[in-house]
Amino acid sequence: MLQKGIAAAPGIVIGRAVVQKEEMVRYERRILDQDEVAAELARFRESVRAADLELEQVKKKVRHEMGEEEARIFEAHQLFLQDPEFIGAIEEKLECERVNAEAALEEVRDSFVAIFESMDDEYMRERAADLRDVSQRLMKNLLGIHDQLQADFTEPVVLVVHDLTPSDTAQLDREKVKGFATNIGGRTSHSAIMARTMEIPAVVGMSDITEQLQTGDLVIVDGLEGEVHIRPDEAVVAAYEAKQQAYWKQKEDWARLVHEESVTADGHRVELAANIGNPRDAVQAVENGAEGIGLFRTEFLYMGREQFPTEEEQFAAYKAVAETMGKDRPVVIRTLDIGGDKELSYLDLPKELNPFLGYRAIRLCLDRVELFKTQLRALLRASIYGNIKIMYPMIATIAELRRANQILDEVRAELRNQSILFNDHLEVGIMIEVPAAAMIADQLAKEADFFSIGTNDLIQYVMAADRMNEQVAYLYDPYHPAILRLVNQVIKAAHQEGKWVGMCGEMAGEELAIPILLGLGLDEFSMSATSVLRARDLLRKLDYKSLQETAQHVLTLESGEEIRAFIKEEILNKL
Ligand code: PEP
Ligand code: MG
Repeated sequence: MLQKGIAAAPGIVIGRAVVQKEEMVRYERRILDQDEVAAELARFRESVRAADLELEQVKKKVRHEMGEEEARIFEAHQLFLQDPEFIGAIEEKLECERVNAEAALEEVRDSFVAIFESMDDEYMRERAADLRDVSQRLMKNLLGIHDQLQADFTEPVVLVVHDLTPSDTAQLDREKVKGFATNIGGRTSHSAIMARTMEIPAVVGMSDITEQLQTGDLVIVDGLEGEVHIRPDEAVVAAYEAKQQAYWKQKEDWARLVHEESVTADGHRVELAANIGNPRDAVQAVENGAEGIGLFRTEFLYMGREQFPTEEEQFAAYKAVAETMGKDRPVVIRTLDIGGDKELSYLDLPKELNPFLGYRAIRLCLDRVELFKTQLRALLRASIYGNIKIMYPMIATIAELRRANQILDEVRAELRNQSILFNDHLEVGIMIEVPAAAMIADQLAKEADFFSIGTNDLIQYVMAADRMNEQVAYLYDPYHPAILRLVNQVIKAAHQEGKWVGMCGEMAGEELAIPILLGLGLDEFSMSATSVLRARDLLRKLDYKSLQETAQHVLTLESGEEIRAFIKEEILNKL
């Protein structure tokens, strides 16, 4: 039987399931006798201490295997264990209402989670997930449960669970856990992102997969298609063994392209770059053959902490990326793009009805000049260590670009006065992600050194369809003729002024989009590091000359469906 879900991490695994249902955490609510209270309190405190020790271990393991950023998640969990409001409320309930520790924990957790979740704020909702995770850890300690997830598996297994918290995912034994499937979760959930980093095939959002499988059942997790086969017969297993071999072989073939050029079959050269969120990602980008960084989302340096990163901290991060990439490979660093779905707890901003249309990114930076200047100083100082380029997000008017450049000039002058070195010839470009900017690209191209098209936002603004809203997802279509025509217009405008143009929205890494974008003349494609080699493989089979005609024809088609079908049949199926 086949069940569909969301492809969270690529790869195929065939193995025996270890199923863990949600209801494993069971206890009875009890009213304590007065003389039991002290012992119960001590038992609770012991569980807090044990959880803290466990988290210390997890944090070390994650820092070592994944990096500082991921390790911070567990630091946040530890903070909950030290939080007098949370822990104090549990102890108070236990003492005043004389309930057992499990009940006190669950009731306090529920009220805190309800408060966090009712906040109309992505950051706080994430805190609710953290609070659940840490409470689950406390609960297991109280109940003395050593769950399946941390069991010593004697053979390779496929985990089938309701949900995997980030702690669960981080603690998985990678030698033994070969894949997982979960009832809930989306492609951008923490666990899915970690699964991709750990290269464990995973399918999430399967609603009731824990009901469909028993421990010991044979299961196939296809993280490429987002499918799970439940108790497959021999023929299905054989077909998937072949698919698995083909995938491994394909990965080997792609790996051979690490040092190859990004060039089409007829000799047209483009740049394949990676999008990163922290300096460690740059190492992965190089390993995956990226020829540069097309987008460093610096806001991640500002997130998951209590105050703004200092100039020195930022300088160290930008310098590290520049050095990792070397003198030749370009590193496009985007200035702070906060707002929309990315919030900072310590930046006290007013609530807005439409945060994506609100006070964000360059708008905020032009208003909070000191904040902007600190980042620009760090960027300029780091510019002597590699090939750094600066990029402003969300530019909508020429005036914004000019004002940003004026502030940059002020920072340059300050550095000169202090005899601090920086690269005087550093390129300064802008993201084209606001439709207004796309429409005046000819004017902007006169004053920007390059463009990078941010389709993630551009699509939502052009189509008036929130990029986070599933109900209007049918409108959020990169292949809608309106999007492709705008992209065409932007590329032409840049080239007219002799400027290069890239794309750093997710679209740049899509198999169907690459032939079109290439035909439209895009110069740089920036994507997740793990997509670079696949893209290079495709590129090397494509013919630039004929794609120029194809792309012009595509612009005359009437819908996204028609365009996708055309590219599939006329280009990809013929390779
Ligand atoms: C974009 O909008 O396409 C983009 C790359 O930026 P972000 O996804 O960070 O908004
Ligand atoms: Mg954007």
